[in-house]
Amino acid sequence: MPSLYSDIVKTVNLQHAQLIAVSKTKPNEAILNLYNQGQRAFGENKVQELLDKHEQLPNDIQWHMIGHLQTNKVKYLVPFIHLIHSVDSLKLLFEIEKQAEKVNRTVSVLLQIHIASEESKFGLDEKELIEILEYYTASPSPLNHICIKGLMGMATNTDDMSIRRNEFKHLTELFKFVKNSYLPHRDDFNEISMGMSDDYTIAMEEGATMIRIGSLLFGNRS
Ligand SMILES: *Cc1c(COP(=O)(O)O)cnc(C)c1O
Repeated sequence: MPSLYSDIVKTVNLQHAQLIAVSKTKPNEAILNLYNQGQRAFGENKVQELLDKHEQLPNDIQWHMIGHLQTNKVKYLVPFIHLIHSVDSLKLLFEIEKQAEKVNRTVSVLLQIHIASEESKFGLDEKELIEILEYYTASPSPLNHICIKGLMGMATNTDDMSIRRNEFKHLTELFKFVKNSYLPHRDDFNEISMGMSDDYTIAMEEGATMIRIGSLLFGNRS
């Protein structure tokens, strides 16, 4: 009998997207269960929990930081993190640069864009996005230990799926604008991280390349 996991992976890969299994609050056994079925990309939103799991679990797991990141914790992640989805300020990006230079590593990031209508969600507005892109594309760039791989967004938490769809559309439009206007020769700028358990099929229809799924894979969080 095919598992829910393999069904989801199949669906996501058919759309040429990548599944990030969001394992926040879940125990190591639950992660190993998916690991043993082939999953390698896992997402966490708290630094300490991510560090503990990184230490305890197989070292070929690719860890994705998807939650708000405080500058004073950047140094703990920079040596090993696979991708930081949640860059939401220029200040944070400069701290990642500083720590990455120290360990002589290029750190991959996504810029988190505020696409939801809710006040509470983190993310850059378009003015802040452009400011970051101007620093990134300056030559010489003050951000030369950073690789910006794309954009990330979270839709409004609403039952009205047409609202979520429009927010995803907006993120894809913004991605194309950035690609064409600032990064036309950067083939490494190619990711759009959007879609969670409730809305990932819509996100894929609207161009997502990375889907972040938690509760659908692991069950509800208490
Ligand atoms: C928790 C979380 C997810 C996964 O949410 P589910 O609804 O459990 O799939 C995705 N993205 C971010 C940023 C999260 O914090």
